[in-house]
Amino acid sequence: MSNELLAQIDRVIQKRPLYKEALSTYRELVRLIEDSKPEIMYSTKDEAVAETKAKQGFPVFSREDLPLDLKATSSLFPRLLEHMSSQKREDSKALKNALDRVQTDPQWIERTITAFLSRDETTFTTMAQEVNLEPMVLRFVTSMALKPSLNALREAVGERIQKETWDYGYCPLCGSSPDMASLDDEGNRMLHCELCGSEWRYPRLKCPFCEKSEPKELGYFVSEEEEGFRVDFCKKCKVYIKTLDRRVVESPAPLELENIITLHLDMLAHEQGFKTPSG
Ligand SMILES: [Zn+2]
Ligand SMILES: [Zn+2]
Repeated sequence: MSNELLAQIDRVIQKRPLYKEALSTYRELVRLIEDSKPEIMYSTKDEAVAETKAKQGFPVFSREDLPLDLKATSSLFPRLLEHMSSQKREDSKALKNALDRVQTDPQWIERTITAFLSRDETTFTTMAQEVNLEPMVLRFVTSMALKPSLNALREAVGERIQKETWDYGYCPLCGSSPDMASLDDEGNRMLHCELCGSEWRYPRLKCPFCEKSEPKELGYFVSEEEEGFRVDFCKKCKVYIKTLDRRVVESPAPLELENIITLHLDMLAHEQGFKTPSG
């Protein structure tokens, strides 16, 4: 999987030289997390209970109690910081601060991960400020360090997720919001989880964030430079989501990658007064 992902990143860099720097960092981190082999302790105790819970709209886990391999995550975390701080970056000193902090206070990683997963923005931002790092960069490092565990968990839970019948705007596996959407070959809309990468089907004419489905509240715009993409928005809650049309885009990269290289669509959406679910 990872080799395939690396090859895809290389292809995207060729296609989008503008994103070379961002993607090169991403590529390096993908390479570093590749060796991580997290152990996920997960068992299905009671299928019937799980099914009933799913019908009532409860995801399999909440973000706070995901059975992740925190040991694997904690050992990756400093390695990612070390690599990034050794690069020519404006924030390499801040990254080094973070690395020093992690090495002198191992609990720091755990607190960062907890704040990240429980969406405790205040604590998370304070922790980033403690080491002079942009919260966005700390968020990126944290999510990359969690990725092997999340990928393993997604594979372990696999078929148990109700991808076709789950009728909610949050992830059936971890309860997070979607960060992107796609239209499949039949034109069905699939949402993609911002945290664990699960995908599930969702009605096209319904806002995943406030669940309104009045056509006059929903709309989308397209960008001429970006064939096969559109930005769906909701006038009610002012939230937008980028959508990739698989009927138009030939062999797209994984959505997490397409998300990185379509930042100008985010800018257009912000200009029009729309925001992501997290603000
Ligand atoms: Zn998820
Ligand atoms: Zn809405």
